[in-house]
Amino acid sequence: MTVATVWPRLEQLLPLVSKPIQYVGGELGGVRKEWETTTVRWALMYPDAYEVGLPNQGVQILYEVLNEQPDVLAERTYAVWPDLEALMREHGVPQFTVDAHRPVRAFDLLGLSFATELGYTNMLTALDLAGIPLLAKDRTDEDPIVLAGGHAAFNPEPIADFLDAAVLGDGEEAVLEVTALVRAWKEEGSPGGRDELLLRLAKTESVYVPRFYDVDYLPDGRIQRVVPNRAGVPFRVHKRTTMDLDQWPYPKKPIVPLAETVHERYAVEIFRGCTRGCRFCQAGMITRPVRERSITTVGQMVKEGLEFSGFSEVGLLSLSSADHSEIGDICSGLAEQYEGTNVSLSLPSTRVDAFNIELAQELSRNGRRTGLTFAPEGGSERIRKVINKMVSEEDLIRTVVTAYTNGWRQVKLYFMCGLPTETDEDVLQIARLAHEVIKAGRAATGSKDIRCTVSIGGFVPKPHTPFQWASMSTPEVIDNRLKLLKQAINSDRSLGRAIGYRYHDGQPSLIEGLLSRGDRRVGAVIRKVWEDGGRFDGWSEHFSYQRWVDAAAAELPTFGVDLDWFTTRERDELEVLPWDHLDSGLDKDWLWQDWQDSMSEFEQDDCRWTPCFDCGVCPSMDTEIQIGPTGRKLLPLTPVGSGNG
Ligand code: SF4
Repeated sequence: MTVATVWPRLEQLLPLVSKPIQYVGGELGGVRKEWETTTVRWALMYPDAYEVGLPNQGVQILYEVLNEQPDVLAERTYAVWPDLEALMREHGVPQFTVDAHRPVRAFDLLGLSFATELGYTNMLTALDLAGIPLLAKDRTDEDPIVLAGGHAAFNPEPIADFLDAAVLGDGEEAVLEVTALVRAWKEEGSPGGRDELLLRLAKTESVYVPRFYDVDYLPDGRIQRVVPNRAGVPFRVHKRTTMDLDQWPYPKKPIVPLAETVHERYAVEIFRGCTRGCRFCQAGMITRPVRERSITTVGQMVKEGLEFSGFSEVGLLSLSSADHSEIGDICSGLAEQYEGTNVSLSLPSTRVDAFNIELAQELSRNGRRTGLTFAPEGGSERIRKVINKMVSEEDLIRTVVTAYTNGWRQVKLYFMCGLPTETDEDVLQIARLAHEVIKAGRAATGSKDIRCTVSIGGFVPKPHTPFQWASMSTPEVIDNRLKLLKQAINSDRSLGRAIGYRYHDGQPSLIEGLLSRGDRRVGAVIRKVWEDGGRFDGWSEHFSYQRWVDAAAAELPTFGVDLDWFTTRERDELEVLPWDHLDSGLDKDWLWQDWQDSMSEFEQDDCRWTPCFDCGVCPSMDTEIQIGPTGRKLLPLTPVGSGNG
C-alpha cells in the first residue's frame, strides 16, 4: 500500500503563511525512504515549532537510530503555527511529516518527545489535524500508536487519556525494542489488533500503557491506588537506561536546518546523568546514574559531525559538563585541533568555580568567547542549603571576578524564585550578591566596563525529585518578590546600571506545576484549554494564564479538587503520588529523607566523591559501583572507554 504525499495541497498554502520554509523539509541529514520497502513506520514529533523542535537532540538521535534499520522508516513532524493550522483545517490538509509530507495518521507509531509539559496542547492540535481521535480509547486499528517519551513522560498521567503508551528514560534501545515488537506483530498479521499490540508492549515492563491501569481516588481527592487491570501487566513500569554511550554515538548525521532555529551547532552529549543532587532538578535525578562518553568517542563524533554538517559551532552538552572526568583533556584537545579554523567550541557553564573559566578560556583560543553563565540558583546561603546547591558566596564572587580579570566583560547569573521555604529576604539576597559581584569585579579590574545579568526562573516542583511533595508559591507572591528584587538591584544606581535583570513571571510556572504533578483528572483541563484556543503554551506571547485558570475552574470541581489543590498544596509522606507506579530508579524513601534533609538545611554531597548514599538508582540498574570512602573515583563504573576509573 502506498501513501500519497500531501505536498501538492500543502504547497499551495505555503505562500500564505509566515516562515513557509520550515514546512518544506529536504534538509541535509534528512532521510527519504520508499514507504513500500519498509515494515515499521514512525512519525517522530517534537511538539513545538520547527525552530525549537529541529535542534532537539532526542528526536535527532531516534530519527537516525530508526532510519539506520533497513526496514524502518522514521519521519519528523513539528507543531504548525496557528496561521497554517487555520488553512490546513480550511483546505482539509492533515498533519504531515516534513520529510516526505506524508499524513501522520498513516504511520504505525507517532512518537512524541516532551521536554516540557507546556507542549501538551500542541499534541492535541497535531492529533486533531492528523485525524487521530484525541482519546486513546476512541482509536481504531487504522490509527497509529501514540507514544510519549522525554522527561515529561516520567509523569504522563495528565495526558494519559490521549496516549496509548509512554516510555520512560533513554530512547536509543527502547525505540528498537518497540519497533521489534511492532514488526513481529505485523508480520504475524496483527493478531488481536491494537489492544494485543499494546498488551505486548506493556508486558515488556518498560512501556507504560495507561489504559491497563485503573486509578482509584479517596473521598478527599487524593489517589487511593493505581492498579493494573489486565493480567500480565506489571505493577510498576521501569525506566530505560542506555548504559554505554560509546555504543550509541548519535547523532552522526545531524540535521542541518533550512530555516532559522534556536541552535545551529553540532551538539555532543558528553555524559548523561548527574549526581550533584540539586533537589529541584528533575533532569539530574531521573537520568542517574552518570554515564560518560569517552574522550575518543567525543573527539570522533565532533570530527565526523562537523565534516558531515558543515556547522561551525560545537556544543559539549550535559547537565554539568565541567564534571566530566576528562573534560580538561577534551577541551584542550578540541581547542588544539580546531585552532586557526572557523570552528567555535562551547560548554554550557553552570559550575561555579575557576576550573570552569579555565575551560572556557581554553575553548576560546580561536578568539571567540562564548558567554559565561553561573547558576547559584538561590540568593541566600540558607536557601542554597535547602536546594542542595553547594556554592558559597565567596566561591561565587571569586569565580566571577576571575572571569572579569580574564577578560570577560559580561557574566550571567541564574537563580530561581519560589523555592520551598523561600522568604522575601532570600530573594533580596540576589540583589546584594549581584552588587558584591560588580563591586569586586570593578576593584579587581579597575574598570567600570563590566556587567552581570541576573536571570530568574520560576521554581516548579517536579515528580521524582525530593521537592515532589513541596507546595508552590502563588504567582502573586512570586511577582511581588520579583518586584522587590528589581527595586533592590536599582537601589544603588551606579551598581544597578551594571546589572541586567531578566525574569519570568509566576503564572506560567504555576500552570507548569499543575501539568507536572497532575493526575488523570488534569486531562480534562488540558483538553478544555486546547478547545478554547490554547496553543504554544511555552511561548509567552501565546500563553494565556486566564485560559488555564478558567479551564481548571470549569473542569476540576467535578472531582472535588482545584488548581490550588494541585499546585500550592504540600503533600504528605503517605500520599500516593500519581507517578508512584512509574519507576525512575530512585527510592521513594530516600527522596522523602532528602526532602526532610532539605527542610533541616542539610546538604547532601555528590556521590562521585563520597560514599554512596543509597538513592536507589545504581542497584536498580544493576550497576557495579566502585566508590571508596576517600578516593575520588568516578562514576560511571560501567565500561565506557578509557580513563573512567
Ligand atoms: S545509588 Fe549511590 S552511587 Fe548510585 S547514584 Fe545513587 S547515591 Fe550515587
